[in-house]
Amino acid sequence: MIDPEALDYDRRHIWHPYTSPTQPLPVYQVVSADGVRLRLDDGRELVDGMSSWWCAIHGYNHPVLNEALRRQASRMAHVMFGGLTHPPAIELARKLVALTPEPLEKVFFCDSGSVAVEVAIKMAIQYWIALQRAEKRRLLTIRHGYHGDTFAAMAVSDPVTGMHHRFAGILAQHYFAEAPTSRSDLEWSEAEMISFRSKLTDHHSEIAAVILEPIVQGAGGMRFYAPEFLRQVRQLCDQYDVLLIADEIATGFGRTGFLFACEHAGIAPDIMCLGKAITGGYLSFAATLTTEKVSQAIGRDGGVFMHGPTFMANPLACAVANASIDLLIQADWQANIRRIEAGLRRGLEPCRGLPSVADVRVMGAIGVVELQQEVDMAVMQAQFVAQGVWVRPFGRLVYTMPPYVISDDDIAFLTRQMVGVVASLA
Ligand code: PMP
Repeated sequence: MIDPEALDYDRRHIWHPYTSPTQPLPVYQVVSADGVRLRLDDGRELVDGMSSWWCAIHGYNHPVLNEALRRQASRMAHVMFGGLTHPPAIELARKLVALTPEPLEKVFFCDSGSVAVEVAIKMAIQYWIALQRAEKRRLLTIRHGYHGDTFAAMAVSDPVTGMHHRFAGILAQHYFAEAPTSRSDLEWSEAEMISFRSKLTDHHSEIAAVILEPIVQGAGGMRFYAPEFLRQVRQLCDQYDVLLIADEIATGFGRTGFLFACEHAGIAPDIMCLGKAITGGYLSFAATLTTEKVSQAIGRDGGVFMHGPTFMANPLACAVANASIDLLIQADWQANIRRIEAGLRRGLEPCRGLPSVADVRVMGAIGVVELQQEVDMAVMQAQFVAQGVWVRPFGRLVYTMPPYVISDDDIAFLTRQMVGVVASLA
């Protein structure tokens, strides 16, 4: 049932992401969700094209994930991690160490993607302090990246498309190289490396780490790039004694067709950030993994890593993460992602000829329609809701990253509505 008073209260008292406190954008009230469907208070059902910002990979109200949470809640919802440990954390660490590229062996559990990035940056800086090279405290990244909304994460997100330009004057100053433009190794040109290589050769003595999103840059522009770039970044980091941080918060757990996007290039980072889909979208949780080399150096001479959030390794989150990872890898998830990829390609192809469209691209379970001009998000959002789908565009991008449980029929429906709404643009 629609409750106008509740929505009015929300409008007056609750802050939503990236919104004005005085002119909030409209919000829709969701009362339940099941599979790929969100149910609104007026009874309408929307096919979810967003996986709740890319995390609900198994869809909503999944019986296995619900049961994992219930079981853990009846044992212990939370316990501090200082001086204590518990089976769900140990089981999750085992899984993450086994699934991620080989040298990643030490796991730091934290609360959210942004915090995982903060932790990664602190690890890199503490590593160089421990090796008595404290001058290595800057970061190098590429344009169009997005790494989160906390201060260290903002400082390595794209200054223009990364949403944080208002803080330009007070963020830590790091180095930004041009992002590659070729999307695959077939289009690769060595010229793609010029900017990155020159930043690294000029400044490596003060650079602690390179941080980037491997293969797919998400909230900074939904861009895909060639694995060869990542391979050469890895080589150059080794050559110039710089750590490599892979932010797999958006790409991890199968989204791009590989379990982790680094696998497109066959490389391993020194530090990897995981989040979003780690709990199947049930709870806010993340992890930062690193190598023996980095952790041994930080621990040299009794050194400790200075981070320890209250909810570190929350047992409910670990339990649901364990269940989510089992669900993913016990199925033929690669074939499933290929099925979604084929459906998105087929469904979004008609956008390609439209005058308002600059580009259509699909990788794994990610489908992007890039428009010629910025959209009015609130207007387009309402059009999508009227068509029975949940798609939240931003900037010039109308995109979908659906739950992996989406059926072929629902992919066809979702993409048809996307094509329809894009086609209706003047
Ligand atoms: N890194 C990447 C690549 C992300 O996409 C995001 C979230 N969109 C973050 C970091 C930040 O994660 P969180 O919102 O959980 O803090």
